[in-house]
Amino acid sequence: MLHGYTPPERFLPYLSWTAIDALEDRANTVIVLPAGAIEQHGPHLPCAVDSIVAAGVVGKAMSLLPDDVPAFALPPITYGKSDEHLHFPGTVTLTGELLLHTAIEIGESIYRAGFRKFVIVNAHGGQPQPLEMAARELRLRHGDFVIIVRSAWSVPHDESFIPDHERKLAMHAGHGETAILMALAPQTVRLDLAEANIPAPFPCPTLSSTRPAAAWCARDFGPSGVIGDPRGATLEQGEALLEQLGTQWAKAIGEVYRMDWPVREAVSWARSQYTGHIESCRRG
Ligand SMILES: [Zn+2]
Repeated sequence: MLHGYTPPERFLPYLSWTAIDALEDRANTVIVLPAGAIEQHGPHLPCAVDSIVAAGVVGKAMSLLPDDVPAFALPPITYGKSDEHLHFPGTVTLTGELLLHTAIEIGESIYRAGFRKFVIVNAHGGQPQPLEMAARELRLRHGDFVIIVRSAWSVPHDESFIPDHERKLAMHAGHGETAILMALAPQTVRLDLAEANIPAPFPCPTLSSTRPAAAWCARDFGPSGVIGDPRGATLEQGEALLEQLGTQWAKAIGEVYRMDWPVREAVSWARSQYTGHIESCRRG
């Protein structure tokens, strides 16, 4: 069924429009959008890693939420902006512009339904920029809308079992992603094919000692598509990661439900920035 990792009673599109219309305190009810991607993750992981992680972490959080915190998950955005991986078959990418518009339109739909608290949980490191631009655009359009965009991995969790060199890099298809996939979708993981690929230090150390400071595509680091060291990942580590991320996200969603944020006037010209001239003319 469509709800995936989310308990069905926490999956917004399983409600009828009349049930949604009858929800109490919609202004504080938290709507959570998992944002993933379909892109190569080396020979040992499926292309769906980021969509599985986003949906899996949000689903875990939803299953741990206390009954007195009203919150619902949306279906994940399963296609993201993955152009840095397009040289590998199986990568399915949108343009950054389309992802930006998609996030804005989903946010508008949530707002139109009366919700005022919207959290995007993103599991793909290549797309915080369009999602954050969408969040700011929505905030300018609606001064009473609270929009939060964070990485699924941004909440506190223990990574002490991950080797130092890998923890600093943690770029793509490495230890953490491999472990959590073993917990979320074990049938898709081929640990026997896991290989390490650690990029050389970036040649301008003042700009970055670990991650590259120059624009990059996955092929810049070699033919496997892995950027990191997935070796040694275990199911136990993955289960612990999922439990911690889910617990912390449940806590965060509770905090968002209870939080206040300044209500400001909408900025009317903001809408024209991304939706074009025709709409701004129509609005006068
Ligand atoms: Zn990934």
